[in-house]
Amino acid sequence: MSKKNVAVIPGDGIGPEVIGATLKVLEKVAPNTFEFHEVAMGGNAIDKYGEPLPAESLKICQNAEATLLGAVGGPKWDNQPPEKRPERGLLGVRSGLEVFANIRPAKIFAPLASACPLRKDIAEKGIDFIIVRELTGGIYFGKHEAFKTPEGERAARDVMEYSEHEIRRIAHVAFKMAMGRRKIVTSIDKANILTSSRLWREIVEEVAKEYPEVKLNHLYVDNASMQLIRVPSEFDVIVTENTFGDILSDEASQIIGSIGMIPSASLGEGNRGFYEPIHGSAPDIAGQNKANPIGTILCGAMMLRYSFNMNAEADKIENAVDEVLKAGLRTPDIYTEGTKLITGSQMRDEIISRL
Ligand code: NAD
Repeated sequence: MSKKNVAVIPGDGIGPEVIGATLKVLEKVAPNTFEFHEVAMGGNAIDKYGEPLPAESLKICQNAEATLLGAVGGPKWDNQPPEKRPERGLLGVRSGLEVFANIRPAKIFAPLASACPLRKDIAEKGIDFIIVRELTGGIYFGKHEAFKTPEGERAARDVMEYSEHEIRRIAHVAFKMAMGRRKIVTSIDKANILTSSRLWREIVEEVAKEYPEVKLNHLYVDNASMQLIRVPSEFDVIVTENTFGDILSDEASQIIGSIGMIPSASLGEGNRGFYEPIHGSAPDIAGQNKANPIGTILCGAMMLRYSFNMNAEADKIENAVDEVLKAGLRTPDIYTEGTKLITGSQMRDEIISRL
């Protein structure tokens, strides 16, 4: 059988450290299954090729079934002109892969419950939901305009626009995900005010009819931002448009506590996926063996689940992470008194030994 083709972007700062750990975990959980193609992107590509995303790198990602990224950027490239900044490469990969659905899990690992800033009785009910955010439409991609009013005053507008197919395809992603979970979808909009939200709600309701087992709730975004911290245990799959999702997913990452622990996936048509932890290149700890590799390792698990349908192997990785945390082993970012401090590479090895 031919191997599965995965593009790998180690990136800058701690990127190569957390990616190195993840590739070792994937090789252990599914030996000889993947062919990894390492590509240059970000600051390292600027240094080597004079641009953040060489055409060849993008081509390799486009030809792969999945792309795995560590992180890019760092102070060395902060003064580059905008088109030569590492982040430009990131946007280039996302749009070149045509990914339209961003998936961010928000799950509290029981041993890390103390990192949750919410009240103990709220956190103890368990937090395990997914935000499915539309990634290529809405106000970020609508018409942006600065103009002068007839009275000569400066004014500006940004247009929020969604078409039916954009809403339909993201709704399907959410309902399919809910089918493999607790079967509850909460669609978040502002349908009491926005016309685009009323269309959103109409289409989500149409799609819901194809998933009769899934319960659909609607919430206005302002109420949703409150309910996420009041009763987070009641959410299973949240689906929402680009801007609302941007804000709510950052709120969700704070509920969970540590930035080094959270993976994300961006999915396109078919099984194509782009997987990256939510953290950056952490130049302050790069090269010191302090980086927590768990966020990226969990990206590997998401890749197995969403791009390759390898759910059993994904479960194994998630369980191994759980066990390491239960054993009280902690990298510096999640260390608390009474637990055992270990390095990033020790964390990698402890996870591998439990697979
Ligand atoms: P950051 O996420 O890199 O770091 C914020 C803080 O969290 C730092 O103190 C860092 O040490 C810590 N941290 C992050 N990941 C960690 C991990 N895995 N283990 C332990 N600690 C971790 O954010 P920043 O400092 O704002 O940005 C640094 C650089 O990363 C910038 O150049 C920024 O542009 C870039 N960045 C890249 C991405 C990406 O590649 N997707 C995302 C965000 C920021």
